[in-house]
Amino acid sequence: MMDNTSNYDVIVIGARVAGSILATLLGEMGYRVLVFDRATFPSDTLSTHFFRAPALRVFKKIGVYEEVQSAAPHLTVNYNVIDGIVFAEAVDRPDDYPFYMCVRRITLDDILVRRMKKTPNVELREGIKITGLLRENGLVAGVKWKGSHQEGEAQAKVVVGADGVNSFMAKAVDAQSEYQEPINRAMYYAYYRGITANEGPAAEFHYRDNTLVYCFPCDDDLALLAVSVPISEFAAFKRNPDARFFSELKAMADLAPRLSSAQRAGQVRGSGSIPGYLRIPYGKGWALVGDAAMAMDPWSGQGIDQASTHALLLAQYLGDYLSGRRDWEPAMQAYHQERKEFSLKTYQRTCKFSVDLRPMTRAALERRGLG
Ligand SMILES: Cc1cc2nc3c(=O)[nH]c(=O)nc-3n(C[C@H](O)[C@H](O)[C@H](O)COP(=O)(O)OP(=O)(O)OC[C@H]3O[C@@H](n4cnc5c(N)ncnc54)[C@H](O)[C@@H]3O)c2cc1C
Repeated sequence: MMDNTSNYDVIVIGARVAGSILATLLGEMGYRVLVFDRATFPSDTLSTHFFRAPALRVFKKIGVYEEVQSAAPHLTVNYNVIDGIVFAEAVDRPDDYPFYMCVRRITLDDILVRRMKKTPNVELREGIKITGLLRENGLVAGVKWKGSHQEGEAQAKVVVGADGVNSFMAKAVDAQSEYQEPINRAMYYAYYRGITANEGPAAEFHYRDNTLVYCFPCDDDLALLAVSVPISEFAAFKRNPDARFFSELKAMADLAPRLSSAQRAGQVRGSGSIPGYLRIPYGKGWALVGDAAMAMDPWSGQGIDQASTHALLLAQYLGDYLSGRRDWEPAMQAYHQERKEFSLKTYQRTCKFSVDLRPMTRAALERRGLG
């Protein structure tokens, strides 16, 4: 059965961090937004979901801060163990949010999607995959979509790809990268119950040579444990994720004794397929946001801070365009420029140390007189 819809201002592909925040902000400005996601929510996705003040600031802006901040502990201490040397510091920010958070994506994305669904002018279609783009006179003008029983087309003034690291949209428009980095690391993670938390509660970073293990208390009284290893170890990890994961945890002297009373909740999951790129995030009738526009190795836990902030920027400049305050090109140039100003240093630092964490950890020890 065919279903054709038009008259939207913006179509957004993808309804997680970047897509739901963008749609909420545009809907609140009065623009008609149609959002597609092939997932149905609540839905989990691969992520260790650690975030900080930039994401919290955006959550405040869209009115979900209270719900997010009450979902999991505030991690007020940054607890580092570098090759056996321990230093713990308060998450001391001069600004508004002196803590980090770790909220499972099944919880966080559900909060964001429920907020989006309550927004006037926003329509979400779940369980629908975008399979093609419509073009008119060289401009992207809409999408072709497919559900389990229906398929159709929808048109809008602008189509945004918020469709993640394997973005359909980026491929379809042949988005070019300004910066690129190969896959340098793999990350595996699992949830545990019963791990004694370090005081704070703390966000724990355990480094041993070029391996990093996180331990973050998160929602539902769970702790997230994650192992980031050089990509050269990925093949061995993939063959036996449980055994390799556990042996990396046991090798962390500060963590190992606390594991004996803990139980794993669920599977060890992971990925060794995340490259780095910063793409030019717009073209004729289209824009990209979140991981579709910029991705980097997850060792630095930056994706949610970045995707949420980029969604805020894109909403502002799409609002300028749709209201007639600016033409398309200057509006999108400003989005591109501000995104770069916010993100380039973080991107370059993440990529640099994804190759080898040791120059970073050695410098951290030296700065504190511990090296
Ligand atoms: C192992 C791992 C650990 C990570 N750890 C962290 C961390 O600790 N902290 C952090 O900040 N970031 C982390 N990240 C990165 C973080 O998960 C991403 O930066 C973040 O999810 C980006 O959000 P997004 O909304 O751009 O994309 P996504 O969350 O990927 O959402 C994209 C959505 O688009 C939908 N979609 C895709 N294609 C289509 C299509 N054709 N049609 C319809 N829908 C479509 C998908 O179903 C999905 O729901 C990690 C990533 C990985 C892989």
